[in-house]
Amino acid sequence: METIFDILKQTKKDNCGKCGYPTCMAYAAAVHTGACSKAACPFVEAEGEDRRTPLQDPETALAKELKEKVRSVDLEERAQGLGGEVVQTDFGRALRLRYLGRDVFISPERVFSEDGSELETRDQILLYNYLFFGGKGELSGKWVGLESFPNSISKVVTLKRYTEEKIARHFAGRKEEFVSQCKRLGAKEVKGCQADACVVVLVLPKVPIQLNFWDEDREDNFPAEVKALFDSRALDFLDIESLIFAAERLAETITGE
Ligand code: SF4
Repeated sequence: METIFDILKQTKKDNCGKCGYPTCMAYAAAVHTGACSKAACPFVEAEGEDRRTPLQDPETALAKELKEKVRSVDLEERAQGLGGEVVQTDFGRALRLRYLGRDVFISPERVFSEDGSELETRDQILLYNYLFFGGKGELSGKWVGLESFPNSISKVVTLKRYTEEKIARHFAGRKEEFVSQCKRLGAKEVKGCQADACVVVLVLPKVPIQLNFWDEDREDNFPAEVKALFDSRALDFLDIESLIFAAERLAETITGE
């Protein structure tokens, strides 16, 4: 059976949305779980399938998939490498992780937040990938742009559109607000950087993202700009699609859009 990553590799990997899912990763996960026909993506060869979409509710299917997969994982063994800890919850033992400034839990039964409610499917997919990557090794502490990673050319455009430009547009002329929203997620300010404001946000314990923000200059007609940077070993902790999604989720959280 093809893995999520096998399916993902066959897509155009530019999150165009034509399949009805917001990202190629969400599509791949839905196909993998049987929630969606492979033919939903016009760029994937789908022998013998007609080109129609959902076969069943993707959230239900993904929850089932998570449940099965997590059962085969030793959470205790993974916890340290992922920067989390195993705790007892109302839903049994679960891996607790800090995700965008709040605690979330992955148990063999569900992926949920502190109040017990299940996370959105997109967040589940991200956490699922983080868990199964296994958190091997340490971060380098060296920041690089997405373009430094292999096969990232088309993804740089996605990152720009859904993360960098979104944040820049939203906080133009409001640098302090940008910093304060990031700090609400536990971000640390970086002193002495070249930008007008620089913060490091831990989307997940081993997935830090540095946001460099240059505010607009109305007199000279320069718009605000943002550059997102990643640890040079980020791909040891997430695949590149998930990394871009982590940045998008960060942008959505601080802008509220
Ligand atoms: S999987 Fe969906 S989002 Fe990705 S390329 Fe295919 S249609 Fe576009």
